[in-house]
Amino acid sequence: MTNTTTSRTPSADVDVLIVGAGISGIGAASHLKTRRPGTTFAILEGRDSIGGTWDLFQYPGIRSDSDMPTFGYGFKPWAHRTSIADGHLILDYLRQTVTEHGLARHIRFGHRVVSAEFSSTTGRWTVTAQQSGSRKKARFTARFLFLGTGMYDHDAGYTPPFTGVEDFAGTVIHPQHWPEDLDHTGKRVIVIGSGATAITLIPSMARTAEHVTMLQRSPSYVFSVPAQDSLAHALRKLLGHKRAHEIVRRKNIMFTRGVYKASRRMPKLMRRLLIANVRRQLPRHFDVATHFTPRYDPWDQRLCVVPDGDLFKAISAGRASVVTDHIDRFTRTGIRLKSGQELTADIIVTATGLTMSPFGKIRLSVDGRETKPSDTMAYKAMMLSGVPNLAFALGYTNLSWTLKVDLVCEHFCRLLDHMDAHGYDTVEPVLDDPSVERVPYMDLTSNYVRRGIGQFPRAGTHGPWTVEMAYEKDIERLREGPVEDPALRFTAGAPVLSDSRPGTAG
Ligand SMILES: Cc1cc2nc3c(=O)[nH]c(=O)nc-3n(C[C@H](O)[C@H](O)[C@H](O)COP(=O)(O)OP(=O)(O)OC[C@H]3O[C@@H](n4cnc5c(N)ncnc54)[C@H](O)[C@@H]3O)c2cc1C
Repeated sequence: MTNTTTSRTPSADVDVLIVGAGISGIGAASHLKTRRPGTTFAILEGRDSIGGTWDLFQYPGIRSDSDMPTFGYGFKPWAHRTSIADGHLILDYLRQTVTEHGLARHIRFGHRVVSAEFSSTTGRWTVTAQQSGSRKKARFTARFLFLGTGMYDHDAGYTPPFTGVEDFAGTVIHPQHWPEDLDHTGKRVIVIGSGATAITLIPSMARTAEHVTMLQRSPSYVFSVPAQDSLAHALRKLLGHKRAHEIVRRKNIMFTRGVYKASRRMPKLMRRLLIANVRRQLPRHFDVATHFTPRYDPWDQRLCVVPDGDLFKAISAGRASVVTDHIDRFTRTGIRLKSGQELTADIIVTATGLTMSPFGKIRLSVDGRETKPSDTMAYKAMMLSGVPNLAFALGYTNLSWTLKVDLVCEHFCRLLDHMDAHGYDTVEPVLDDPSVERVPYMDLTSNYVRRGIGQFPRAGTHGPWTVEMAYEKDIERLREGPVEDPALRFTAGAPVLSDSRPGTAG
């Protein structure tokens, strides 16, 4: 008979309970280890391995599209020559971080957190996790909850309803669930989509496929960057990894922020430059106007990056092609387009997007009242209004995710220092400024954002309630700015229960 009991495992009480062992959760644990060595913590991870995104996604060519010196942590230099890195190198980097900070013993795999309840009486969270492979639930208590659960639903990506999909005689795959044994050698492949995933997959599959067709409804901005950073390599030799890391990060942040700011301030000029960059890399008569000239301004949606123009090389060599049209229906042999054109395929990849989902679908409640993320306001883009002792890590969308996560972790450690110094037990952001208006957490116009952002906390129009997608502003706010804030309510004197003393784990 299946066991449905709830168990209290040993070491089930900690100061900080981190949810998620992806780049954010591992980052948070590393910061705690170095900045607050006395703090006890555990990481609950729903999967059986670390890495999150970089472990889940297994499609051909999976890689970062940010440069790794900034996608990696500030505290751990990226030592490879490649700046845009394959997924397995990112996983290695995360594994090294776990080893270097002695984090392995703090991680509990196969623990999917389903609910977290905060009690003002005890000043603690009670967290329930479903154990994988059984119906057992484990319960943990913690003073603080740190959510490093990422932004996407790991269970299912997004596929629009395509008419006739069941008629197709070949294989249909979503990149989030890549079959280990799929061999695309010599096959005709259609990749539906024009986002980061599609443009990563296409050159990679085109190496051995008979042909890959990129089928898009509308084009995206695609920007070629060098896969290797020779300056970074030279600096490492000259100055050593640590010093070179600092310089290269500064250079890369300046460059990416520069492109972003120029795109917002001079969209017409940036549009011309970006499209000229594409035109230079494609054959003379290629129809850039149809296939690589988006209808929106640069950075209304994320820029897609290709290392060393690999996508353009595949197209120029005739191994890949682009079709911009709308799908009428799937047929037995492929796809019929609205224009009447028929595309034939053995494999169709639906790189049609991911599903955004806030905080790992955890049911949050405070003193018995359920709190939906969308009913809350994000404070400094790292805590939630009306929810005590909780922090979350959601990185940048216009710069490397991890730059933000590092700053959030720093601020979180400073917040704990502050509470210790003043003997506070709880901290809760409270929005009592009626002039703050509610706006979406992020303003990208991409379809996946439009579909999912309504479930996320709201941002505010000013004060600590804004969500800054600007590293320099977050440096001021999170690294240099004070912890004390009129919008934060601290309390002292929560009773310590005999079964919830901190310090039994970690
Ligand atoms: C394919 C892909 C490529 C990307 N490339 C870049 C890039 O180049 N640059 C960039 O800046 N951003 C990129 N991103 C966005 C983002 O930076 C990455 O997804 C990043 O790895 C997120 O890290 P994370 O740790 O916050 O979340 P994730 O990697 O999503 O990890 C979250 C972890 O939490 C666990 N978890 C979630 N819910 C629960 C729960 N309830 N209980 C227990 N465990 C739970 C998950 O199992 C997972 O292991 C990319 C995203 C994708 C999908």
